Amino acid sequence: MTITNTHLGPAELLSTVPTGLFIGGQWRPAEDGATFAVHNPATGGVIADVSDAGIADAQDAVDAAAAAQTDWAATSPRQRADILRRAYDLLLERADDLALIMTSEMGKPLAEAKAEVNYAAEFFRWFSEEAPRIDGSYGQTPDGNTRVLVMRRPVGPCLLITPWNFPMAMGTRKIGPAIAAGCTMVFKPAPQTPLSSLALAALLTEAGLPDGVLNVIPTTRAEQIIEPIMTGGVLRKMSFTGSTEVGRILLAQAARTVMRTSMELGGNAPFIVFDDADLDTAVDAAFAAKMRNMGEACTAANRIFAQRSVAEQFTSRLADRMAGLIVGDGTEDGVQVGPLIDQPSLNKVSRLVEDALSKGARIVAQGQVPDTGGYFYPPTVLTDIAADSELLHTEIFGPVAAVRTFDTEAEVLTAANDTDWGLVGYVVTNDLNRALRVSEALEVGMVGLNTGIVSNPAAPFGGVKQSGLGREGGRVGIDEFLEYRYLAIPSG
Ligand code: ADP
Repeated sequence: MTITNTHLGPAELLSTVPTGLFIGGQWRPAEDGATFAVHNPATGGVIADVSDAGIADAQDAVDAAAAAQTDWAATSPRQRADILRRAYDLLLERADDLALIMTSEMGKPLAEAKAEVNYAAEFFRWFSEEAPRIDGSYGQTPDGNTRVLVMRRPVGPCLLITPWNFPMAMGTRKIGPAIAAGCTMVFKPAPQTPLSSLALAALLTEAGLPDGVLNVIPTTRAEQIIEPIMTGGVLRKMSFTGSTEVGRILLAQAARTVMRTSMELGGNAPFIVFDDADLDTAVDAAFAAKMRNMGEACTAANRIFAQRSVAEQFTSRLADRMAGLIVGDGTEDGVQVGPLIDQPSLNKVSRLVEDALSKGARIVAQGQVPDTGGYFYPPTVLTDIAADSELLHTEIFGPVAAVRTFDTEAEVLTAANDTDWGLVGYVVTNDLNRALRVSEALEVGMVGLNTGIVSNPAAPFGGVKQSGLGREGGRVGIDEFLEYRYLAIPSG
């Protein structure tokens, strides 16, 4: 049951992806035989039926992770690094097939899916390099009476929960450091996009990951099955990427057993164009920050602020770029924007735009969508947006650029920080002092300075305020999966 770069067509390729639960190294059906359908958002058609984990399956996955933990923690850093490195190589070798699987279940254009496979693979390469560098320290208490030996230990069996928008990279961003640190895992992918995760599990097995280290439980019953395992006392760590709303529920559950958590939650990113900006850079960066993944990213530029003297030119150039985009089935040549993930997402984006229009917003540009039954929304640029428009206060998660005008730096900073979220902000300016001043004043975990992309495995990704807790990637990414243990040793 392995995926190879086959150059098969979508239907044949999808039939090679495992559709069972992956527990203790075995592919198996759900205990009650339940399955659920996976849809292609470009057509609405069913592309696979996947086993739907229930409570007993989730408990089996926890048991398998717990049983594997001691032996896995005892492996050498080099063994774990080598598995990650092999998985990195396999991901790149099979990037074409994995991209097609991803596009089929998630909708993003093939070029973006392939870019995600590469990005996902980089987490494995990065953490393969981090595994041998887990270190500790040796010191003395100030009075000289005690030696202090500090070691790092894996935190223990982990629960990983990921969203549908980056089905492969959100998995590797958690699985990579967990493997490197010596933790075993129960992994629950999003029900919209389980196939990328199941293909990833098969690939990791091929790369040499021992049975039980990674257990994958796709499910439509997250609410019922996750709480018992969150509160069962065996799992020691939870890493979640998803909405702030669900994050709050999981944090409350984690509190019951004082479980460690890493939370990557929602965003409401400001994108600020100052009047000294290079407008080519501003348009490129805004386009990237808005349109990556059809706008379905927590890092998406949600509120675009342009300084008055450049606002018109910036907006019309962004509008030209957006209006000309080709929207359609992401597997087709030339398509630049795919469908949204499902009908509720399409309804939400439509509703947010209607709300803004009813409060006085103006459509500067709007693209075309195909009439093929998928969940398509046209790339849209709005201006004259009233302050009480809902899209300024919630994640749009769609290809809609909302541009507002501002006069002063102080005014835009107040507006940019006027949100409960603090994941990322973008600043476009050629004034170095302003760039640093504004970056310091923004209440965010990340700043894109003259760029619209901040995600990188080598950098600490994460937010402040209600955007989350902890960081993924960078030198600190592995810390989320390690505990400190210190030995007090009398001197003498
Ligand atoms: P989105 O709106 O992007 O789908 P969610 O926060 O709803 O974001 O979902 C992110 C992940 O959290 C998905 O894997 C989803 O299945 C899971 N999830 C949703 N509700 C719960 C819950 N009550 N307990 C555990 N996981 C959940």
